[in-house]
Amino acid sequence: MAMRATEQEAYTSILVVAAHPDDEALGCAGTLFRHRSSGAKVHVLFLSDGEMARGASDKALVRRRLAMAEAAAEAMGGLSTRLAGFPDNRLDAVDMLDLVRAVEAEIAEHNPDLIYTHHPGDLNIDHRHAHQAVMTACRPIEGRGVREIRCFEVLSSTEWAGPGLGPVFEPTLFIGLDDAAFAAKRAAFNAYAAEMRPMPHPRSWEVISALAVLRGATAGMPRAEAFFVSRRLVP
Ligand SMILES: [Zn+2]
Repeated sequence: MAMRATEQEAYTSILVVAAHPDDEALGCAGTLFRHRSSGAKVHVLFLSDGEMARGASDKALVRRRLAMAEAAAEAMGGLSTRLAGFPDNRLDAVDMLDLVRAVEAEIAEHNPDLIYTHHPGDLNIDHRHAHQAVMTACRPIEGRGVREIRCFEVLSSTEWAGPGLGPVFEPTLFIGLDDAAFAAKRAAFNAYAAEMRPMPHPRSWEVISALAVLRGATAGMPRAEAFFVSRRLVP
């Protein structure tokens, strides 16, 4: 795919820290596809499999979820993935130090210059802890390679938090989705179809595409994914 020269190409190693398989697709599928299209490596760390809170003692559910994640990773241009295996919807019961070490291990292995993770104001407790773990693992110490941290929004969590529960998502970065990137987002959605819901649930394709149109229109583009830039360093 021919890409125009953009700042996307300034980053060569991208790490995504997501609480659950499907957060990365909802939050930044089209953007990750663009990174892959411009030649960057993209690795996704899932802190939890997203299944245990449903009482799933059956390992088959976890395997099914991970198979969805693999299919979505392929749809987004070929991402590598790893599951850390922390308990779903209970990251607040995990020592923050353990979460931080899991993120630090990925940073040590992949040496990312850009990280995508959750917004700190999400309703989902796992999302909030994922954000804190990333910010702790990325303390800006001289010589470290992470130059930018971007927070994505996840429908049915970011917009459901409500006032008083944390910072409101106020996007500061809009990444346009051309037809190929939007098709990749749709394909990633399809990979996770079993996790999605019918309209008017926010995790429906109608609402996901409506948000892409709104975020694009906010920035004078047909479609976009929006981010809050938590930190950007220009060495
Ligand atoms: Zn999630």
